[in-house]
Amino acid sequence: MHFPELHRHLGGATHPRILWGYIEKQSSDLAIRLLARYGDYSRFRHEFERPFRDLADYLSVHHLVEELQAEDVGYFAHRAVRGASVFEAVDVLELRFNPYKRTRAGLSEDDRLVDMSRVVDDIAAAVQTDFPIRTSFILCMDRGFSPARNKAIIDLAKMHPACVAVDIAGPYQAGGPTIAEWVELFRYAREVGLSTTAHMAESDPIDVHPELFPYLNRIGHGIQIGLHHPQHLSELSKRGITLEVCPMTYLRTNTISDVSELKPVFDRCRDANVRIAICTDNPALHGESGRLVNEYERLVRAGVIHFNEILDLADAGYAAAFTHPA
Ligand SMILES: [Zn+2]
Repeated sequence: MHFPELHRHLGGATHPRILWGYIEKQSSDLAIRLLARYGDYSRFRHEFERPFRDLADYLSVHHLVEELQAEDVGYFAHRAVRGASVFEAVDVLELRFNPYKRTRAGLSEDDRLVDMSRVVDDIAAAVQTDFPIRTSFILCMDRGFSPARNKAIIDLAKMHPACVAVDIAGPYQAGGPTIAEWVELFRYAREVGLSTTAHMAESDPIDVHPELFPYLNRIGHGIQIGLHHPQHLSELSKRGITLEVCPMTYLRTNTISDVSELKPVFDRCRDANVRIAICTDNPALHGESGRLVNEYERLVRAGVIHFNEILDLADAGYAAAFTHPA
């Protein structure tokens, strides 16, 4: 059996051992600084596996990885893709990342926007592998970026054949687009033929924006809709919007304290005919049980889904995938 993986961040897809191996081999300022800060692999690994306070603390490790990956993004992307194929039986992988955050440091704004294209080229070349996996990219816009910079990310996704969709990610920050501006950005993305998803209703019950629903194919997480705003589920069903649910993330961010708390989300989505795709988000931050199959297993063990639903849930993922068949 194989599985589709529709929600995985490049920044959270590299096992800490691969990152540490890279740090030990490199002589960049960042590598030297990280080597001095952590000293050995066990302390570095602890940074990934320690308990996190909340979503912001969880994302802080993400930023550390993004900075390191920017040094040789292809090296890390290649390892993330072959690992997903061999160790997780993933055959459709939609890998998401913010291309701007991986541009070369020290460039001007205009040069960084140009360099984004080189970043996507490098990753697209690196993910070519003989393993049986189809990989495509979802480019992440950022809640802290200006509308113009986010639009440049849409324009890049539109031009690059490896890119299938755009997403909103990152923590809330001042200076980012308003909801009205996000609506315009997503409307534009759909107009130019891209598919769309958006991180929403992940850990904050008020982070629900129905204004965006008309322009979304999928929602990253969306569990707070199932838990606290089930009145929106009929609209999600009508629009064919799939939720990308990543159970371990909600434990790691203290959004829930037990996986069984997700049962109402699955029950209500099943009743309302809203599709759910099971995903991992950032498996490198989830310890030894961070693989995609562990997410299915967690849900079965907690009584959230029945074992007999696994095939249907995997099929729901394939049906919601943006990646075109080979
Ligand atoms: Zn995510």
